[in-house]
Amino acid sequence: MGKIYIAFLACLVISCKGDAQKTDTTTKEDTEKIIVHQEYLGDEPTTPEGTEFYEPVPPTVVPGANGTPPSDAIVLFDGSNFDQWVSTNDSTAVAWHLNDDGSTTVKDKSGDIQTKRNFGSMQLHIEWRSPAEIQREGQNRGNSGIFLQNKYEVQVLDNNDNDTYVNGQVGSIYKQTAPLAKASVPSGEWNTYDIIYHAPEFNASGDKIKSARVTVIHNGVLIQDHVEIKGTTPFIGWPKNPAHGDGPLRLQDHGDNSRVSYRNIWVREL
Ligand code: MG
Repeated sequence: MGKIYIAFLACLVISCKGDAQKTDTTTKEDTEKIIVHQEYLGDEPTTPEGTEFYEPVPPTVVPGANGTPPSDAIVLFDGSNFDQWVSTNDSTAVAWHLNDDGSTTVKDKSGDIQTKRNFGSMQLHIEWRSPAEIQREGQNRGNSGIFLQNKYEVQVLDNNDNDTYVNGQVGSIYKQTAPLAKASVPSGEWNTYDIIYHAPEFNASGDKIKSARVTVIHNGVLIQDHVEIKGTTPFIGWPKNPAHGDGPLRLQDHGDNSRVSYRNIWVREL
């Protein structure tokens, strides 16, 4: 093990001597990479079987067809009821509209809704649409939002022919990170968000020691690529970083009759 490591470093030194440019570009990270590589492999195997592992065996997950949940998903909304949800205002029953087509539509000024259950890191699938009938402009057209752990908003907005500040447009981490692309379908049609979220970590003193990160795929298009979430996503002010544990998933009633609808919401815990 040690021999290979020494040989590796020796090669590095030799190549550095022969090429001044390489000396300059050898970083601490490069050295660490070499060490990790060497520790993982140990003495280099000399047979094909030496690099073939049979445990631990990953679980089998039966994928859903056409956006339906995979076999190990926690179904949060399938159109039949609000059993998994409460009103954010007062923890009473959800007042949003339950539609015949398996969706729910925000009931204006009834407040946000949130899951009864708390989540940490997760894979989230959620579908949403803004009304086909166009109303108002900017942030007041088809505005809702998906708050991860009740704190970090992935923006939902009808941005079609409707510009706004880019870090508040559809698919943004609200007031933080603009999406890499605007990938919405026409107003009135169903959008999908597939979100991979890694929760932040805090130490015993309540200081953040690891930021949350999020990846968002909008209608199959990568729009947030493992982006650092800098903190909460307020309308006014900088992101804040209060210590927290697992939290509910919350959906926004923007309070301006935006009439955004949701359907087919499921989570896989990570
Ligand atoms: Mg919003």
